[in-house]
Amino acid sequence: MVDLKGQYEEIKDEVNASVINVIESTAFINGPEVHNFQKSLENYLGVKHVIPCANGTDALQIAMMGLGLKPGDEVITADFTFAATVEVIALLQLTPVLVDVEPDTFNIDVDAVKKAITPKTKAIVPVHLFGQCANMDAIMEIAEAYNLYVIEDNAQAIGATYTSKDGTKTKAGAISHVASTSFFPSKNLGCYGDGGAIFTNDDDLAHTIRGIVNHGMYKRYHHDVVGVNSRLDSIQAAVLNAKLPRLDNYCDKRIAAANKYDDAFKDQERIITPFREGGNDNHVFHQYTLKIKDADRDALAEHLNEKGIPCGVYYPIPLHNQKAYQDARYNEADFPVTNQLVKEVISLPMHTELDDEQIEFITQTIIAFVNG
Ligand SMILES: *Cc1c(COP(=O)(O)O)cnc(C)c1O
Repeated sequence: MVDLKGQYEEIKDEVNASVINVIESTAFINGPEVHNFQKSLENYLGVKHVIPCANGTDALQIAMMGLGLKPGDEVITADFTFAATVEVIALLQLTPVLVDVEPDTFNIDVDAVKKAITPKTKAIVPVHLFGQCANMDAIMEIAEAYNLYVIEDNAQAIGATYTSKDGTKTKAGAISHVASTSFFPSKNLGCYGDGGAIFTNDDDLAHTIRGIVNHGMYKRYHHDVVGVNSRLDSIQAAVLNAKLPRLDNYCDKRIAAANKYDDAFKDQERIITPFREGGNDNHVFHQYTLKIKDADRDALAEHLNEKGIPCGVYYPIPLHNQKAYQDARYNEADFPVTNQLVKEVISLPMHTELDDEQIEFITQTIIAFVNG
């Protein structure tokens, strides 16, 4: 699905030198690499504060802790996403409220969000799924009308640019009150282990969060709030410092591969290529995800595996049907889109090193199978 080796070969000299440098300096924790990365990412995103942390799941959890959400507060998020999003809501004893997604973008359905709002609702967590920005204009409008926080889960869309109705361009993750991202190796900006970060333009919230990531300490050995221990280590920051200047180029390569896939599938009635909303930079293709109509998706996945073509089904089970997250409030009739998508979606290899020959082999194999 991803070719981390090919990408490494290109930046090997730079990464190796800076990792060795961290080891020799022994500044493993909170070293200058971490500070430099924080500043570079703030510049890149156009956001006032980046707070690095240990992974994308922690980032979401810490964002919610920073906002002071309390047990029983309801947090609305998408039924069709990676479990981390709902997991941290439940872990903090907040009440997750899952809602359906849009059939074309796979992102949270704003009408469903509106319907799910109650007096207990405190926050909305849109996920920019597969690399495409959710409908942030509408979500921010709802949030303003109902006085809710918005937390972008930007684990899959770092580098994407959202264009608002008025033409303003903002990087994904810099739109809402606070956002989280992940630097898991297979993410669009991946390190060589675990890593994550929180973004916000709010000075007070940034201050609160900087304490939370460090055991709730604002002054050494003074613990003002309950915190966690969640850090990006210097070696991971060194890797990210080498990769961040290349992120736009990585995004362009993913978009170019997506364009080639789209082109190969354009006359195929049984293969629905990813819908793109907004400008060319709104979708940075963390995943390239097809919908398969009138053909057996699972048999296709098996066939691709036999041919040595990696593929993935993200996500095979709606979150509202997962044992851990079932809730009497959910009604199957409220999730028609997610219930359908889990049967139709399949994600193809997507990374910065895909060449024409690979794309030709992958697309021809799929076309032959679905029409066979
Ligand atoms: C990867 C991912 C996360 C979690 O990131 P980790 O760094 O693996 O903890 C959260 N949300 C979404 C949507 C993700 O894709």
